[in-house]
Amino acid sequence: MTLLDLRGVTAGYEGVPVVHDLDLTVAEGEVVALLGANGAGKTTTLLTVSGLLPALGGTIEVFGAEVHAGRRLRPSAVWGLARSGLAHVPEDRGLFFDLTAAENLRLGQPRRRSAADLDRVLGWFPALADILDRRAGLLSGGEQQMLALARAVVGGPRLLLVDEMSLGLAPIIVEGLLPVLRAIADDTGTGVLVVEQHVSLVLSISDRAYLLDRGRVAHAGTAAELAADADRIEAGYLGRVPADD
Ligand code: ATP
Repeated sequence: MTLLDLRGVTAGYEGVPVVHDLDLTVAEGEVVALLGANGAGKTTTLLTVSGLLPALGGTIEVFGAEVHAGRRLRPSAVWGLARSGLAHVPEDRGLFFDLTAAENLRLGQPRRRSAADLDRVLGWFPALADILDRRAGLLSGGEQQMLALARAVVGGPRLLLVDEMSLGLAPIIVEGLLPVLRAIADDTGTGVLVVEQHVSLVLSISDRAYLLDRGRVAHAGTAAELAADADRIEAGYLGRVPADD
């Protein structure tokens, strides 16, 4: 089943488009990577899907229902999207620093609190078990990212949007976290749309990928297809020089 379907979407700020004519889908159990240089429009795309920015054109269907086209969603509609199973981990992680890790997790379970949900999440993020009583503001960057992901999935979302979880983290931490997204998709059928700068790493856990260049899709295909071109993508679109062998 297609969980997210963007057709011809234009998105931006104050009526000025920065994402143009975007077609993008995410199906149940799929991990889809959204790649691109700084300013390519990745965050704008996720904010628009969540209803935090109005789409300027095109159509967006979430769970088979058209949710917003060309108008700003009311807060109750944004909340409705979240309740129907859309979870968004923003770039800044959106944690409440004065609350403990456990309290942050409870905010991800607004309607019902189940020990089974917590156990399942701790299965994906076992390191959180030892720091549940610690305030989120005191956690390391990697622990905070784990907590942000855990809070997003503890309520059992059907579609998970993850914005640049590697920001400020050492590559070794990212190498540990990205496979958890794959496991969540495989274990629960959740569809995952992940923005990430570590091209090879994210392609290794993804099914498909889209590469944005100045707000337009420059490449779209299977992760294997894009991985075969990873050096060219890094050099041509992300401005990085491939490492010598
Ligand atoms: P990064 O990897 O740096 O986060 P990105 O691909 O997520 O980049 P966006 O944050 O979506 O890119 O930004 C796309 C364009 O929109 C950029 O040119 C940016 O300057 C512009 N932009 C972002 N936020 C705003 C805003 N609040 N108001 C106006 N323009 C904005």
